[in-house]
Amino acid sequence: MALKGLDIFKLTPKTNCKDCGNPTCMAFSMKVAQGAISADKCPHMSPEALAKLSEATEPPMKTIDVGGHKLGGETVLLRHEKTFVNRNVFSVKLRADMTDEEIDSVLEELKAVDYERINERMYAECVCVECGEDKARAAEVIEKARSSGRVLIVKTRDAELAASAKAALILGADASNWEAMNGAAKTAGSVLGVSGASLAELHDTVEKLEAAGNKNLVLDLGTGDAFKRAVQIRRAALKDGDRTFGYPSVVDTAAIAPGDPVLQSQLAALFVCRYGSVIIMDRMSYAQALPLFGLRQNIFTDPQKPMKVAPGIYPINGAGPDSPCAVTVDFALTYFVVSGELERSGMPVNLCITDAGGYSVLTSWAAGKFSANSISAFFAEQDIENKLTTRTLILPGKVAVLKGEVENKLPGWNVLVAPNEAVQLVKYMRELKI
Ligand code: SF4
Repeated sequence: MALKGLDIFKLTPKTNCKDCGNPTCMAFSMKVAQGAISADKCPHMSPEALAKLSEATEPPMKTIDVGGHKLGGETVLLRHEKTFVNRNVFSVKLRADMTDEEIDSVLEELKAVDYERINERMYAECVCVECGEDKARAAEVIEKARSSGRVLIVKTRDAELAASAKAALILGADASNWEAMNGAAKTAGSVLGVSGASLAELHDTVEKLEAAGNKNLVLDLGTGDAFKRAVQIRRAALKDGDRTFGYPSVVDTAAIAPGDPVLQSQLAALFVCRYGSVIIMDRMSYAQALPLFGLRQNIFTDPQKPMKVAPGIYPINGAGPDSPCAVTVDFALTYFVVSGELERSGMPVNLCITDAGGYSVLTSWAAGKFSANSISAFFAEQDIENKLTTRTLILPGKVAVLKGEVENKLPGWNVLVAPNEAVQLVKYMRELKI
């Protein structure tokens, strides 16, 4: 359990020397207890005290790096309590008993479904290979998976194959083979996935692996009661302070619902919301990716921070200094919807994004963050009158009421008002006479 400020204070030198930037050792201790600073900021702490503190103040759930993707590290059960920290990754699955054509088809689709949404790359990050009994064929499929450039996950109970695969994540340790698989994971430098016939067995195996010095683990939720296990494991780690269960998880929806892509997608959506860190599916088509990636982006966006893009001038369709300006707010969804429609119009335009606190047009206008004053201040900051020769400025239709005020603030500018809906921008821009 986490230490209280007073417990931490007992471990400090109690000299109030201020070298840590705090007026007293007690003030320092309170901040360490709140997680605001780390214990090693006190240069006079003994190594024994530091070891004790780092163990006691470490987060309830470890952050594990799988092929460059940070997983776990969560501190709350529900996203709206604070925020979720590290988004899950998706994996497609290759089985060693698939034909080369089937494997190529999965990998081709994997390559095709790769796009950007609100500044985030949307793609399945991993390829998982289920090895089976034929080691030679498994090695071939592993090489094919590796050539995809995605993070490699290998599912095998064969320690020799696991060691030689050098995958980012090995799935296959359990109560019967944990020692051999632990050796393989250490040899290959891989994260080790651990499973158990029951939660108690899983707990015991994790304890043994930790005692053997391996804390680079993920917990395999298995196929029976996977969702129930996911919730129980997360509750035990975060609410009961059981650090043995403080690891990210992996769930194989393809093993739970073999050959059923619809159910796999539904399960994947469920595990995005509730505690799947690595979610494995047979494949990732566009039809599956669009809702899943959108859901993930929403669930793993910090609800305390508005989704914003950087203020500035964004030239669209090869816009130059004489192309008209269209101004709007920095709310990410507004930016992507408006810029998408402007691009679709094919007409060159300088999209001016003002700092409106990450709110939508009407919200920021109502809050006084998008006004004639803020627009004219933005023009001054960006030195638009010297950078651009155009004197045409298009306002969002929803704030047509600002037209007169903007004209007063920006004399010499021809201020126009766009339609209310972004979807009408294509026609509007094509018919615009300047
Ligand atoms: S540096 Fe250490 S000893 Fe000095 S005030 Fe801070 S906690 Fe106390």
